[in-house]
Amino acid sequence: MTLVEATWVERDGILRSPALSSLGLVGGFTTRALGSMAGGVFPLDEQERNRRALAARLGFDRVVRLKQVHGDRVVHADAVTDPWLEADAMWTATPGLLLGVAAADCVPILIADPDGPVGAAHAGWQGTSKRIAVALVSALVDEGADPARLVASIGPSIGPCCYVIDDERAAVIRQRLGPDSADLLFAGADGRPVFDLWSANVQQLEQAGVRVVERCDLCTQSGGADVWSYRGAKGTNGTGLGIIGRPRS
Ligand SMILES: [Zn+2]
Repeated sequence: MTLVEATWVERDGILRSPALSSLGLVGGFTTRALGSMAGGVFPLDEQERNRRALAARLGFDRVVRLKQVHGDRVVHADAVTDPWLEADAMWTATPGLLLGVAAADCVPILIADPDGPVGAAHAGWQGTSKRIAVALVSALVDEGADPARLVASIGPSIGPCCYVIDDERAAVIRQRLGPDSADLLFAGADGRPVFDLWSANVQQLEQAGVRVVERCDLCTQSGGADVWSYRGAKGTNGTGLGIIGRPRS
């Protein structure tokens, strides 16, 4: 597997994945400059306006969203998808639809078949320990994608620099991931456990047979970018969107 690190670039208020851009796709993560895109803190109509403006600016018909529940369910999004299917990952083969997973500190995982469907997953500690990245790859493969042709990009999230968890959560992760958790959980500066969400998802994508994985390596808490975070003083609990879609040709 080829791991491409720290390549994302910001343009027009969107952090963008060069790997996905090079395939003619839009893949990225919205910054605070475009406003909050989801969540309960800002007015819902304001956030809907922000999403419509995002879709319009990128040349898409609309943003498809999920009712995210920190699970591992993957659903198909098409032109008539109910915007509130309960799931944490989705895929589409329809150009003009922009898939948007809400995230502040959770990991947006974006995956594309260069000539076929694209998918997005929302992976916090729950989704990651439930291997949602593997579930999304499986869904794409079921649609005819060859895992060896898939390109995956891991967007900004809380990084191993900052993601300190408690012992109970670490125990759940260890139990779910088994021996795979060995290199992903380690003691941080104050002795409390740290969970490396980025490496965990790289590992899962590799295990699922994906050959090219790009990793943004930008921490939403300490990385200095203008992104929402639920932790620390930065932002006030707005939420960004990890986005992927194939423009209408
Ligand atoms: Zn950090």
